[in-house]
Amino acid sequence: MIFAILLAALPALALAEVDSSFVFEYHRYTALRSVLLAVSQDCPDITRLYSIGQSVQGRELLVLEISDNPGQHELGEPEFKYVGNMHGNEVRGRELIILLAQYLCGEYKAGNSRIVSLVRDTRIHLMPTMNPDGFEVAANQGPDGNGWTTGRENMQGLDLNRNFPQLNSIAYSGESSGTNQDHIPIPSSYWSGTVAPETRAMITWLQSYPFVLSANMHDGDLVANYPYDTAKSGGFWGSGYAATPDDALWRDLASTYAQAHGTMATTGGGSCGFQGQGGITNGADWYSLSGGMQDFNYLHTNCYELTLELGCDKYPRESELQMEWNNNKESLLAFMEKVHIGIKGVVTDTNGNGVADAKIKVQGNAHGVNSAADGDYWRLLRPGTYSVTATKGQASQTKSCTVGSGAATTCDFTLDAAGVLSGGTTGTGTGTSTGGNNDPFWWLNQDW
Ligand SMILES: [Zn+2]
Repeated sequence: MIFAILLAALPALALAEVDSSFVFEYHRYTALRSVLLAVSQDCPDITRLYSIGQSVQGRELLVLEISDNPGQHELGEPEFKYVGNMHGNEVRGRELIILLAQYLCGEYKAGNSRIVSLVRDTRIHLMPTMNPDGFEVAANQGPDGNGWTTGRENMQGLDLNRNFPQLNSIAYSGESSGTNQDHIPIPSSYWSGTVAPETRAMITWLQSYPFVLSANMHDGDLVANYPYDTAKSGGFWGSGYAATPDDALWRDLASTYAQAHGTMATTGGGSCGFQGQGGITNGADWYSLSGGMQDFNYLHTNCYELTLELGCDKYPRESELQMEWNNNKESLLAFMEKVHIGIKGVVTDTNGNGVADAKIKVQGNAHGVNSAADGDYWRLLRPGTYSVTATKGQASQTKSCTVGSGAATTCDFTLDAAGVLSGGTTGTGTGTSTGGNNDPFWWLNQDW
């Protein structure tokens, strides 16, 4: 306690103390729980520790939320997530996310204006591991003995990044006729297959919060990979570039991470890396996969997700973790800040009520976003002037919205109340709720 008072009185020293208190070591499951709990207790006003479910072996899928009003979706505030360690033996993300949580907590308390703004204006969700069982298998071997795939899968032998609903073929079949390339329902046949509990929990999570931007972290190469992952035709390798309706935006988002990284965009030589492409790649242009998480985010929800490959070796030694943090720190922050580009606003009806599940579409772009439970929406866009239409039921409004290079432009919509009602809420069959304040996940307390 005396120590805490001293730090509060000496902000410059506090800043230095935060960095030197970082411990660059791997966290097994028990240690992971402890360190996340420690951050939540260190910064109780801006954190919430929760679980979205359990792994096959009963480990919690833990998330540390960081926001100025934890546990609440604030009207107009975008939600962001980082997901690490989806493949249990790809471990950098797990530790980087822990370090990021400690960094955000410490810098917020120290009054770092960039971090205070980020925490105040963003609801950040940090999940260090999506595959805690697989990590324990890999960790039993350690950095030097780990095989290329030992611990990759969950305890059912499922590759979690092949276990999501494959919605690409539905999207691709409607491409030429101009049908919406978003909020595609999950086919009922998907649930009759083997769905991992980790995948099932993730799907529920994605449907429960109005996430806007995300990255999931892997290892085995050094590149920021963007949708689509599933080829439009052809086989595994060299199936060709599978562009989404937002291809230029995707390249900007991936480049944000790669350019700010210590080596991703510039590394030369070695056995991996995409230095000739500035450290970014379209997923299918590299190799095609089906049932991946990033394509599911894009085709079923509002969320734009990158797949980050953070290193050539999957399980670096502990002595390399500090260098990895230094290489990724600015990227992690700069990418989070991208959640604030484009346009955002609230869709209300003529009675002043927020309209949920209104479709927001940019002219000439087949990918729409849906408004969240209170009517707020976020549409990431590059700078430019766009004709944007909000639609619900029989009601619609079109506006011209201009995006600059800075923070998102506010573009609100008002829809005729009778028209909104006339369309019903489920009649189009093209959407799922994008979530809002209806939070199914409990709050872990100090006794947990
Ligand atoms: Zn992976």
